[in-house]
Amino acid sequence: MSDDSIYQQLRSHLAYLRLGAAAEALPGELDHALKNKLGHSAFLHRLLDVEVQATETRRQAGLERFARLPAPWRVDDFDFDAQPSIDRNLVHELATLRFLEDATNVLFIGPPGVGKTMLAVALGRASIEAGYRTYYTTAADLAARCHRAALEGRWATTMRFFAGPRLLIIDEVGYLPLASEAAAALFQVISQRYLKGSIALTTNLGVGQWGKVFDDPYVAGAMLDRLLHRSVVFNIDGDSYRMRAHRARAERLTTPTKRPRT
Ligand code: ADP
Ligand code: MG
Repeated sequence: MSDDSIYQQLRSHLAYLRLGAAAEALPGELDHALKNKLGHSAFLHRLLDVEVQATETRRQAGLERFARLPAPWRVDDFDFDAQPSIDRNLVHELATLRFLEDATNVLFIGPPGVGKTMLAVALGRASIEAGYRTYYTTAADLAARCHRAALEGRWATTMRFFAGPRLLIIDEVGYLPLASEAAAALFQVISQRYLKGSIALTTNLGVGQWGKVFDDPYVAGAMLDRLLHRSVVFNIDGDSYRMRAHRARAERLTTPTKRPRT
């Protein structure tokens, strides 16, 4: 066989095996190998590296799309000085994602604007980057989705869906009252993940208030039981970060500053 037809066949083999990135990189890598007198292993290593990188990028993009994180927040973006009630070492420990290994839950409890969603999303980002399937939902969306699923006879599929991700973020529990059907859906999602998959949950409800907000205090109690059994809880107090930023801006506007001479 001529060099030319070997080359053609090699390309079509790569394409047949769906190694598209390697197929595309082949001519360049062959040139490189020739110029730099690379051995077979070094050449093959470089070629496959191209394919591995491309697969990894695709996989990340897939996880990213699937997760539906509402913002690109990262742990490093969080201003810990502004929120002294948060143990930054604990957050950094969580960002190593060891908590996913034994299905530990993370609860962020506190008033609006203190960074609950930001931290939950930042853990979600870390989890995606570590290659874990991650999914973000608000409690209200979860309830609405389960409601539709029940009507359309897709309850079991939907429950399986919420059992699937390695990390499930449930944002804003307690902002809207959950009717008994919605509470039952949330309860089932929490129960079936219990000791199997982590939940990061944000809520404005202190643990003592759960019973009052859900229609059925027993369901609320059972939910908390499962959530807290193996968990890390952040009780965040302090000012809303938004209000703080707003105040700082207002102060800047009202404090006379030296004008540069023109
Ligand atoms: P919550 O979910 O507690 O209501 P969010 O996480 O949505 O609050 O935070 C509200 C806004 O303030 C967001 O834009 C968030 O990025 C920002 N924010 C809150 N806390 C911090 C912080 N400590 N450092 C940086 N940004 C923060
Ligand atoms: Mg929030």
